[in-house]
Amino acid sequence: MGPRSFARNGQYFPRPVVRTPATRICLDCLRQDARISGLPHQIGMAFRSDWQVPFLRACPRHNRALVEVWTDSDRTRRHDFATRIGLVMPQIMTGDLDTPALPVSP
Ligand SMILES: [Zn+2]
Repeated sequence: MGPRSFARNGQYFPRPVVRTPATRICLDCLRQDARISGLPHQIGMAFRSDWQVPFLRACPRHNRALVEVWTDSDRTRRHDFATRIGLVMPQIMTGDLDTPALPVSP
């Protein structure tokens, strides 16, 4: 572990491995955030850094494939989650981006 590593769930990854220009989300996690936060959806939805791990392709809580919603090599724009998620909010809430259930390996 060091400044060039990234820790998630007790596992350490070299930081370059998790620096991807793509942003992936779990639609079910975000809809759950929207329902329970009591905040406007765009503010109540939270990005999970686990979604950055490149070989994690599905949400282990919802058994659903993560969905790539934008790619941007500019880190400032890429990490402006509240602004960017607002652009796909209608599709998230209506289920238009939903993917089939995906069995998650242990
Ligand atoms: Zn999820």
